[in-house]
Amino acid sequence: MSMDYQVAVIGAGIVGASIAARLLHLGLSVVLLEQGSVASRGASASSGGLLRLYDADPLLMQLTAHSLRVMGEAPFSDTYTRALRRSGVLYRADIAHESALEAAIERYASAEYPLRRVQGFGPWSARADRAELYEPHACVGDVRGATARLCQRVRRDGLLIEHCRVEFIDWQADGSAHIQLGEARLDCQTVVLASGAWTHRLLPELALQSRAIPLARVQTEAAWPLPLIDAVSGSYAIPLGPHLVQSGCGLRDRALLPEQLARPDARHIEDARQRVGQLAGGGRVRVLDVVPGFDSYSADGRPLLGFVDEPRGLYVACGLSGVGFKFAPGIADLAARQIQGYLHDGQRSVDPHWAGLDARRGMPS
Ligand SMILES: Cc1cc2nc3c(=O)[nH]c(=O)nc-3n(C[C@H](O)[C@H](O)[C@H](O)COP(=O)(O)OP(=O)(O)OC[C@H]3O[C@@H](n4cnc5c(N)ncnc54)[C@H](O)[C@@H]3O)c2cc1C
Repeated sequence: MSMDYQVAVIGAGIVGASIAARLLHLGLSVVLLEQGSVASRGASASSGGLLRLYDADPLLMQLTAHSLRVMGEAPFSDTYTRALRRSGVLYRADIAHESALEAAIERYASAEYPLRRVQGFGPWSARADRAELYEPHACVGDVRGATARLCQRVRRDGLLIEHCRVEFIDWQADGSAHIQLGEARLDCQTVVLASGAWTHRLLPELALQSRAIPLARVQTEAAWPLPLIDAVSGSYAIPLGPHLVQSGCGLRDRALLPEQLARPDARHIEDARQRVGQLAGGGRVRVLDVVPGFDSYSADGRPLLGFVDEPRGLYVACGLSGVGFKFAPGIADLAARQIQGYLHDGQRSVDPHWAGLDARRGMPS
C-alpha cells in the first residue's frame, strides 16, 4: 500500500514545522515525519528563543528582517507569533563597530521595529570600549510552543507522523522518492531534510557539523530587566526571572552527530560563572546547572537552504548555526516558494538575493 504526497519534510523542529505549515498554506500536500515527538529531541528542544534583528553578517540581518515580515502572514501570525513575548534586548559591540550599528539603524529602523543607540541602560553602566544598540521590540519565544502550534496546522491540513525515524530514502529513476513507513510506502516528489544535526545521517556528503551549545542556568544578585548580549566576549544572558538567567557557555564541542558530543562538566560551570559575572558587573553569581544543547552548523555560519541534488527533488534546510528560531519563518517562506516553483515547472531557481544561503555550497564540487 502506498500514500502519495507532494512533499515529505523530515524533522519536526521549528524549521521543519515552519516549512511544512507554509507549504500547506500554499495548497501543497505535505507529510511531516519526526523521529521523536514534536520539538523534543533536537536544537528546538533547548533553544533560548531570542529574536532580535542586528547581526554582524548583513545577509543574516536581511534574513531576520525577512522573517519579521513573514511573521505577520499565515500561518505564522496566529502560531509562531503567539509564542513570542516582547522583552527588548541590549546588544553590546566593540566600539570599532559603531558605524555598523549606525548603518543597521539607518537601513532597518522603523515604527514597527525601532532600533536605538544608547549609552548605559537599565542597571548596566556605559562602557567606553563598547557601542550599544537597544532593540525594544526584540522578543523571547517559547520555541516548543511555536513548533507545537505549527504542527497543529500540519495535523489539521496535512499529515504529521511522530515516532517515525526515516532511515533511508529510495530514489526512483523518475526522481520521485519512496520512504518505507513500516508496512506502508510513502511516495513523494520532493523530500525536505529539516533534520538538524542528524542531517548527516541521510546526507553524509553535506558539509555540516554538530556543535554543542551548553545552556547554563545562573542565579545572580544583580537584576536582569531584559536580555543582554556582549558580542566582544561572545556572552549573553536571557532572564528567566528577576535574578535568574540562562546563558551559553564558551566551551563548545564539535562532532559529526549530536550523540558524539561531550556532556557539560565542571569546566562549563566555571565558564558560565565567569561570563555571567562579567555581564552582571558585580554581585554574587551561582550556577544552578548546565544542560546539554546543540545545533547543526554550516562552515560559514549561514543556513544551508535549497535543492542539492539536480535530478532529484532533494531539498535541504539545516545548518541554522545557533540562531534558527528567529530565521524559521523567513527560511520557510524562501523554501516554500522554491519548492512550489520546482513542483510547478521543474525549475530549481535560486533568487540571486539569497544565493549566499544556497545549500549547494555545502556539497562536494
Ligand atoms: C541552547 C540553545 C540556545 C539557542 N538560542 C537561540 C536563540 O536565542 N535564538 C535563535 O534564533 N536560535 C537559538 N538557538 C538555535 C535554534 O534553536 C536552532 O537553530 C533551531 O531550533 C534549529 O531548528 P531545526 O528544526 O533546524 O533543528 P532541530 O530542532 O534539531 O530539529 C530537527 C528535528 O529532526 C528530527 N530528525 C532528525 N533526523 C530524523 C530522521 N531521520 N527521521 C525523522 N526525524 C528526524 C529530530 O528529532 C529533530 O526534532 C539555540 C539553540 C540552542 C541549543
